[in-house]
Amino acid sequence: RAKALGRNQYRLFDRELSHEIRERAALVAGLHSLVRGEGLSLHYQPIFCLKQNRIKSYEALARWNYPGKGPIPPDVFIKLAEESGLIHQLGEKILWMACQAASNWPEDVSVAVNVSPLQLKDRKFSDTIKKILDEVGLDASRLDIEITESILIDENGYKISVLNEIRRLGCRINIDDFGTGYSSLSYLWKIPFDKIKIDRSFVQALPDPTAREIIQAIVGIASIRTTTVVVEGVETSQQLDMVRNMGCAEAQGYFLGKPSPIMLVAQGQACS
Ligand code: C2E
Ligand code: MG
Ligand code: MG
Ligand code: MG
Repeated sequence: RAKALGRNQYRLFDRELSHEIRERAALVAGLHSLVRGEGLSLHYQPIFCLKQNRIKSYEALARWNYPGKGPIPPDVFIKLAEESGLIHQLGEKILWMACQAASNWPEDVSVAVNVSPLQLKDRKFSDTIKKILDEVGLDASRLDIEITESILIDENGYKISVLNEIRRLGCRINIDDFGTGYSSLSYLWKIPFDKIKIDRSFVQALPDPTAREIIQAIVGIASIRTTTVVVEGVETSQQLDMVRNMGCAEAQGYFLGKPSPIMLVAQGQACS
């Protein structure tokens, strides 16, 4: 009897597993239409300059509305695109859409685009960026490329040279989710970058004194390299006051503005 029960449990497990495999296969199939732009859209979240009290840039965040399955979170479909090799096409499409949108914005507003570490393995990646900028007529100084520290886990010289090429075009490099990447601080002088984005987990732990000291220490490290510090995930006015007082230059978060399909400029006009 115990044996029979065991077999049933095994079957149940088996069925769940094959359900998962089918779901995954369906998503991968959907990804092929996503890279053609079907169901793909970008939301834009403002990043504020705390000194000038104005919107400095918008971060482009990819959205996938998969017919019949609803919105799929970017964490999920980006990972899937990486695993299935479609990230290069998808990433290029996203970059194009973001730069195209930004070319219609006021000239003092930039766009920040997230890029997968795999895209940096493509030695022609900076050529792709250049081609897109030329095509849509966006100045390179208005494009920030966001990468996470995880690109540094397997340290590869050529990724660094790709980053250098991107900067030579005139774009900026942002280190995203700073403080969560398990990489050593030594990359701070190996990697060319312009901005540090402090992960939202630190801000959200405020007013915890340890979180405050960590943020303060990151601001100190950044000042060594005259790097701009951006704080992610500001959800309350208290958090905003605290990070401003700690000397953070820029801030982003639901309190300041949620990601939205329309980019709203200060006067309330909408640009697409
Ligand atoms: P990220 O680049 O760190 O983007 C910030 C994420 O935090 C976004 O989630 C944003 O909606 C969310 N967020 C912003 N402010 C707040 C806040 O105040 N509180 C909270 N709780 N969350 C906030 P989203 O849009 O779900 O994106 C998740 C991640 O997916 C991104 O993290 C990024 O790593 C990745 N991602 C999104 N779009 C793309 C893309 O086009 N390409 C690549 N490679 N990755 C992308
Ligand atoms: Mg980002
Ligand atoms: Mg982040
Ligand atoms: Mg992230």
